[in-house]
Amino acid sequence: MKMQLSEIANAIGCDLSMNESTIVSSVVFDSRKAVADSLFVPLVGERDGHDYVANAVANGAVAALWQKDHANRPENIPVLVVDDTLLALQKLAKYYLQKVNPTVVGITGSNGKTTTKDMVAAVLSKRFNVHKTQANFNNEIGVPITILEMKPTTEILVLEMGMDRAGQLHHLSEIVCPDVCVITMIGEAHIEFFGTRDKIADAKMEITDFLKEDGKFIFNGDEPLLQARAQKLNQLQATFGFNSTDTIYATNFNSYMHHASFTINDSKVKFTIPMIGKHNVSNALAAILVGRTFGVPDVEIAQALANFVPTANRMQWEKGDLGEAIMSDVYNSNPTAAKAVLTSFSQVDVDAFGRRIAVLGDMLELGAASHQLHASLAEVLTPQLIDELYLYGPEMKYLFEALSGKYESSALHYYEKDHMDRMINDLREDIKPHDIVMLKGSHGMHLEKVLERLL
Ligand code: ATP
Ligand code: MG
Repeated sequence: MKMQLSEIANAIGCDLSMNESTIVSSVVFDSRKAVADSLFVPLVGERDGHDYVANAVANGAVAALWQKDHANRPENIPVLVVDDTLLALQKLAKYYLQKVNPTVVGITGSNGKTTTKDMVAAVLSKRFNVHKTQANFNNEIGVPITILEMKPTTEILVLEMGMDRAGQLHHLSEIVCPDVCVITMIGEAHIEFFGTRDKIADAKMEITDFLKEDGKFIFNGDEPLLQARAQKLNQLQATFGFNSTDTIYATNFNSYMHHASFTINDSKVKFTIPMIGKHNVSNALAAILVGRTFGVPDVEIAQALANFVPTANRMQWEKGDLGEAIMSDVYNSNPTAAKAVLTSFSQVDVDAFGRRIAVLGDMLELGAASHQLHASLAEVLTPQLIDELYLYGPEMKYLFEALSGKYESSALHYYEKDHMDRMINDLREDIKPHDIVMLKGSHGMHLEKVLERLL
C-alpha cells in the first residue's frame, strides 16, 4: 500500500499538523518490523507499544499513531493522535479494503481455518490475484494487518478469522464485510469460556453478520448446529461433508502416509491432497466449493490442491534418530482435533515389525467439561489400531482411567508436568526403528520438547 499521511488522517478521522504529503508504504505494530516509510502503530497490551517508538523510528518509520492519553509524544516525526490505536488501525484497514475493493472470503471454524485458508488461496490463485493471511494472523490485529499488506492489484482477499470470545467475529465481520463466508466445523476449542457447543456455534455464525446480501455461506453440512442457524440467513448457501444431503460430499476416501485421495459426488475428477486424514478432506471440500463459486474448473482445483504447501507444524512427518517416523502435531490440541489426528494416524500403514505409538498431552482450556472430554478420546482408541499410549499431564488421568480395561500395561500415564524427562527416557527405550509415533497436545504442554529429543 502507498498512502499520503493526509489520506490516512482523513480515513481515521484525526488531525494532522505537519508533513501531510509524507508517503507511508507499510503499517507495522512491532517496532522491530519497521522499515523505511513505515507507519508505526503502538498497541497497548501486555507491553505498551508507545515505549518502542524510538526503535521504530530508528528502523525507518516515518510517522506514528499515538493514543491521546499517552505522554512522551515524539517530536521528530509526524504523529496522528487517536482515542484508541487498535480501533484506528482497524478503521484504516477498512478504508484501505474499500479502496482496493477485492472480493473477500472469510474463513472461520474451531479447527482447520489455516489449512482451509491455504487450500482456498491455492485454488483461487489459479485464476486470480490472491492475497491471504500469513501463518495464523487471524485476530483483531492480524486481520487489519493482513488487509494493509495487500497489494492494490489484489482481486480476492482470503482471510482466516479467529475468535475466542463472543462478539469478536461480529467485529471482524463488520470490518471486512465478506462476500463469501466459510465455517469449517464446530468443535470444543475454548469451551471453558463458552460453556456449550451451541454458544460456540452462535459465536462462529457471527462471521455472517456482515455477509453481503448477494454473498454466499459455505459450511460443514454434517454439523446440525450450523444447519439450524443457516436457515435464518437469506444469502446463497452450499454445504460440504460426508453425507449425501450435502451439496458436495466425499466418496472413495483413502489416506496414505503422506497424502489422501477422494472423489466427490458430482464430478469425475480425482482429488489428492498432500495431507492425511478425513478432516483434511473436509477442509479440501470447503476449498472446492469456494473455487467453484469463483468459476475455477474442477480440474484446476484438483491441480491446486495436489500441490498446495501447508503452513508448517500441522501433522508433519519427521524422522527420529531411532529410525522411527514421527507425526508431529504439537502446535495445539483440543478434543475434535485430537480425535481427527488419532483417526488419521490409525489409518497410516505400518509394517509387521512396527507399532503405532501415540504421545498425548493435556488439552487445555476445556473448563468444567475437561474430565469428560479427555475421557472421550477413548472412543477412537483401541490397541488394534494404536498399540501404545504415552499420556502426559494431570488431565490425561481421565483418559487413562477410561482406557483401563482396554490397554493395561501398554498405556502409561505421567501425571506431573515435571515428569516429561522420565517419559522421554521411557519412550526412547521403547521405540524401535519400524515404529511410527504421533505427538499431540496443547501448546502449553510443550510436546515440542519430546520431538526435539526424538529427532
Ligand atoms: P488455530 O485455531 O490454532 O488457528 P486452525 O483452525 O487454523 O487452528 P489448522 O491450523 O488448520 O486449524 O489445523 C490445526 C489442527 O487441527 C490440525 O493439525 C488438526 O489436528 C486439526 N484439524 C484441522 N482441520 C480439522 C477439521 N476439519 N476437523 C477437525 N480437526 C481438524
Ligand atoms: Mg489457524
